[in-house]
Amino acid sequence: MLSQPIMAKLQQIVGKANVLTSPRALEVYAYDSSPFIHPPEAVVFAENKEQVTAVVKLAAEHSLPLVPRGAGTCLSGSAVPWHGGISLVLTKMNRILDIDPLAGTALVEPGVVNLDLQNALEPYGLMFPPDPASQKSATIGGNIAQCAGGIRGVKFGVMKNHVLGLEVVLPDGETVTTGMLAPAGQFAPDFTGIFHGSEGTFGIVTKVLLKLSPLPEKTMTASAAFASLDEAGQAVSTIIAQGIVPTTLEMLDNTLIKAVDDFLHLGLPRDAEALLLVEVDGYAVELERQMDTIRRIFAENNARDFKMAKDEEERQKLWLARRSGNGALGRIKPAYMVQDVTVPVHKLPEMLRFVAKVAEKYNIVIAQMAHAGDGNLHPHLLYSPDDPEEYHRVEEASREIFMKTLALEGTLTGEHGIGLEKLPYMQHAFSPADLEFMAIVKKALDPTLYFNKGKILDL
Ligand SMILES: Cc1cc2nc3c(=O)[nH]c(=O)nc-3n(C[C@H](O)[C@H](O)[C@H](O)COP(=O)(O)OP(=O)(O)OC[C@H]3O[C@@H](n4cnc5c(N)ncnc54)[C@H](O)[C@@H]3O)c2cc1C
Repeated sequence: MLSQPIMAKLQQIVGKANVLTSPRALEVYAYDSSPFIHPPEAVVFAENKEQVTAVVKLAAEHSLPLVPRGAGTCLSGSAVPWHGGISLVLTKMNRILDIDPLAGTALVEPGVVNLDLQNALEPYGLMFPPDPASQKSATIGGNIAQCAGGIRGVKFGVMKNHVLGLEVVLPDGETVTTGMLAPAGQFAPDFTGIFHGSEGTFGIVTKVLLKLSPLPEKTMTASAAFASLDEAGQAVSTIIAQGIVPTTLEMLDNTLIKAVDDFLHLGLPRDAEALLLVEVDGYAVELERQMDTIRRIFAENNARDFKMAKDEEERQKLWLARRSGNGALGRIKPAYMVQDVTVPVHKLPEMLRFVAKVAEKYNIVIAQMAHAGDGNLHPHLLYSPDDPEEYHRVEEASREIFMKTLALEGTLTGEHGIGLEKLPYMQHAFSPADLEFMAIVKKALDPTLYFNKGKILDL
């Protein structure tokens, strides 16, 4: 519990209604969307940069841990206030300040919800490519801090490919600008990159200049079933190797196919080991040829039930299976740990096989979903929270998957961040010199180490 004078100062900065300390509020903000739980001592909502600055300065003065927070959808524990202190919520800073269709840019506050931005851009014939499945609630600030991606990642990459400049309040309360938000920014060193995936450990993003893309002229969507994970994985790696760049190339395994079909009765191929969903978009003239090549590669890998959406309604039907995956798993077990390990695409078949063996070895259910086109696997390790022995097996299985990923020269995270979840594996993923370099940057920006303490690095 924070002292009375600190509480009074917080209330003075942001207003009484913007400071929560009831046991129920603290319990709510103890969570993000990971299995990690620890309450803050106060939840504070900031409405503008001046309030952010004043709260940051107060925290620095009293050596209080401070964790920036968007919508709390983080899957790796980054938004959990692991050392208590202040949970500083940015969701009220949610204004779209400018959309410039000629420059193809948008200037936004960090609390803007990803989908709200997409909806605002549509009338201009524009979109913002990163589209996490959590886009109905996840914020742009959280997207930057986690370097989020989404289903369009194969073609468009992740957040760091679409941010032109930032305004950031540093841990000492100073405001800095980077990239195109800095005066004459193009000619200065571009420090925007260090904030991508920094998980709120370097500062609080208060303004963002985003690079937009035009909405595609046409989209073609298809799905196909495969008798083995191996053949599906092989089809994916051949498509990418042949230089086709689908917008989306998603995979569901048999556990997910059955869970979704039990839930929605879509007539999915229940005996298939894998279902691939592929989408190409762009200028209409290019698309038929790309889809023909994809269909041929699918056939060479013994695909069946090839379905091409004839219109938007059929496209949405094909997507429904993928979109309903996470929720449908609740029919099997009440909770899951989801990983986002990423391997080079040609190693996808080997990794899919390995994860299936790990499930057998630890006698747990692992449902495999993947942004397959960029080698980003999402094994969902299912468990019951009231069965600690089962949770222990899930943790062991998770460790094996992380270590195998590194052995295959993959990365611990494709889009969900390090947080608390992957902290124990950082020493295996990076050299001592790399870790030391990260620590030097962190200490330079946050000498007190109170900004989202204990995330990414064990300092
Ligand atoms: C069902 C589901 C589906 C998901 N699908 C995807 C997906 O497809 N792709 C993907 O990449 N992720 C996905 N995620 C993960 C999550 O949605 C993303 O990591 C998202 O970017 C988090 O945004 P948020 O606003 O919820 O941030 P939070 O969870 O609140 O915070 C995440 C991190 O950002 C920091 N932070 C927040 N705001 C700021 C700020 N203004 N300045 C500095 N740091 C800040 C926090 O301190 C924390 O470290 C999914 C999550 C769920 C629950």
